[in-house]
Amino acid sequence: MPCYMSQKQGRFGPTSRMISHRRRSVGPQNGVEEPKRGPRRYLECVNTTKTVRLAQCTPPCPFCPTPTKVGVHSRADQRYRCHQCKKTFTQTNGTPLYGLKTDFDVVFIILTLLIFGCPIPAVVAAFKVDERTLADWIDKAGEHAQRVQGHLVCQGNLELRQVQADELWCRSQRGVLWLATAMSVSARLLIWGKVASGRTEALMDAVVLQVHRATRLQSPILWATDGFSTWTGCIMHHFRSALLTGRRGHPALVQWAELHIVQVIKRTYGERIERRLAWGDLFEALHLIETTQGKPGTINTAFVERLNATLRTWLPALTRRSRHAGSDHERLERHFFLVLVAYNFIRPRRSLQRRVDGRWIERTAGMAASLTDHPWPMEDLLSFRLPPSQAA
Ligand SMILES: [Zn+2]
Repeated sequence: MPCYMSQKQGRFGPTSRMISHRRRSVGPQNGVEEPKRGPRRYLECVNTTKTVRLAQCTPPCPFCPTPTKVGVHSRADQRYRCHQCKKTFTQTNGTPLYGLKTDFDVVFIILTLLIFGCPIPAVVAAFKVDERTLADWIDKAGEHAQRVQGHLVCQGNLELRQVQADELWCRSQRGVLWLATAMSVSARLLIWGKVASGRTEALMDAVVLQVHRATRLQSPILWATDGFSTWTGCIMHHFRSALLTGRRGHPALVQWAELHIVQVIKRTYGERIERRLAWGDLFEALHLIETTQGKPGTINTAFVERLNATLRTWLPALTRRSRHAGSDHERLERHFFLVLVAYNFIRPRRSLQRRVDGRWIERTAGMAASLTDHPWPMEDLLSFRLPPSQAA
């Protein structure tokens, strides 16, 4: 787990317990007059809602790639200074919370409502926040969520075993938009998604590339897709590696030994559903289905279709016959990534519950994939600090 995950258990931070102890030790009962600047002023600052959640520890320098010594630059402004690059920064540098003037608790509540499908006009009416402000928050948080997903998931550490991919369409003010997604069945982990104005090879290619980045090299993997043959072409292109023979020249590229591709084709006439093997070994494919779904089953894309239903509920712009038409695919994609991280790390899933010592433990997809150890509250996502190389 990267060190950025454990910032809440800080090393140097003046926690609220330390601050209250300091106040008692310098109080009038000890015969020492409390100074006008210093602890009292710091207490006043820390007790505001904005800083009480985040001022748990000294943050690492957002500008230096390696850990450096960081000191306090201004207690009143909650500003820190890196001893190496000499730059000053705040607790929220490199996060979507940087520069926000609204109370952070209000931002957490509003973004949580928007993630789970609350209509924007309802939020505007309830909180008296301008629509353009909401769009700005979604843009910032969505870009941050995309980078967090890439940082945590697409690092080549996962054994995905069965991946189901599908695409869905919706109407927008500028025509039809397509959303392609891929998810891991065993952990119910949504790996990646891409929005485009057409059902093109570039759309599928972007999703397959990120799944390739997420999966461990040469690990067994079964792809289940619909009958759209572009999926097969993109998978065959990415899931291959060099065959080293010792001869001169570029080595030949061959498909992974444990790569299997199955297709579920739905027709409106004749035999309604056709299930077929497009690449690999059928016996191995059925074995992967059994191990990832927990019981023997047939070739299917049921899990990604269930995911599509969730996405249409949480993202009103994806509902086909609604008035929430997405205005452009870039904004829709940013909102989608906010929903994606909520799906993976915030919302516990009933099918992933585990019974430990007689008690049911709720787990998220991120916990099932061993990416985190607890369901995230919204502030964990928005205050997640990425390494300087991946920050905005
Ligand atoms: Zn620095």
